[in-house]
Amino acid sequence: MARAAELGRLTVAVIWRRAQLVERRPQNATARTLVFSVPGWPGHLPGQHVDVRLTADDGYQAVRSYSLAAPADGDRIELGVQSVPDGEVSPYLADALPVGMDVEVRGPLGNWFVWRPAAGEPVLLVAGGSGIVPLAAMVRAHRASGSDSALSLVYSVRGGDDVWYRDHLDDGHPGLDVRFLYTRKPPPGSIRDPARISAADLADAAAGLRPSSPVYVCGPTGFVETAADLLTGLGRDPATIRTERFG
Ligand SMILES: Cc1cc2nc3c(=O)[nH]c(=O)nc-3n(C[C@H](O)[C@H](O)[C@H](O)COP(=O)(O)OP(=O)(O)OC[C@H]3O[C@@H](n4cnc5c(N)ncnc54)[C@H](O)[C@@H]3O)c2cc1C
Repeated sequence: MARAAELGRLTVAVIWRRAQLVERRPQNATARTLVFSVPGWPGHLPGQHVDVRLTADDGYQAVRSYSLAAPADGDRIELGVQSVPDGEVSPYLADALPVGMDVEVRGPLGNWFVWRPAAGEPVLLVAGGSGIVPLAAMVRAHRASGSDSALSLVYSVRGGDDVWYRDHLDDGHPGLDVRFLYTRKPPPGSIRDPARISAADLADAAAGLRPSSPVYVCGPTGFVETAADLLTGLGRDPATIRTERFG
């Protein structure tokens, strides 16, 4: 029975479904929130992603992965897309796909990089740039579930204008501690000099964890590898560090 249920779940995840763009909102100058209506969407866990497939009039297809930015909400899914200069798919999704048009999605995909509420277990989230997207889904699910786990987020971005999801991250909720790391243009009043992530940036948050507490790291490959190395250098068991690389 368990194998049949698992097979059914996997089958649901690999079906391509029509996804109609119903809303586009800016996150910053180059990143957009896209909300799609996906009839028959089976639901998902925070941290999972979808494949998006575009088909041109001549039949040419392109597929890219995008993380789900919000907890499950019926047949609506929310993606966060960073427009990559000269990219084939992301500039089109971010700025050209008309509201009301369809793409195809399949998912939810990824069963490892997911957060499930566990009573009182502290959690550390580490994001680089657009790697904030699946971690934002975890922050929002944490809030919605009323979880008593303490969440710490260390979020590396170029400057204050590049921060995504500020409304969810800056609302003063006592269960969420956010530390912004600015690599290029810190906002006025910042006491940390602009720099890439270092062990000192992670030490306080890591010290608040239990040995078994999960750490989720997401972003460009170089950022993820650096952050994971810093965490193991601080004594974290590598088995507790879950990573997602955006390429
Ligand atoms: C599991 C998973 C989840 C992802 N989730 C998200 C998400 O939530 N939001 C999001 O914006 N992206 C996400 N990505 C990245 C996304 O799948 C695409 O790779 C990205 O949008 C670029 O696609 P493109 O067609 O525009 O660029 P391409 O035409 O594929 O690449 C163009 C150029 O950009 C470079 N490039 C490719 N990807 C990136 C990148 N991420 N950053 C900088 N340069 C890049 C390439 O090396 C190449 O030189 C995710 C990737 C994975 C594997």
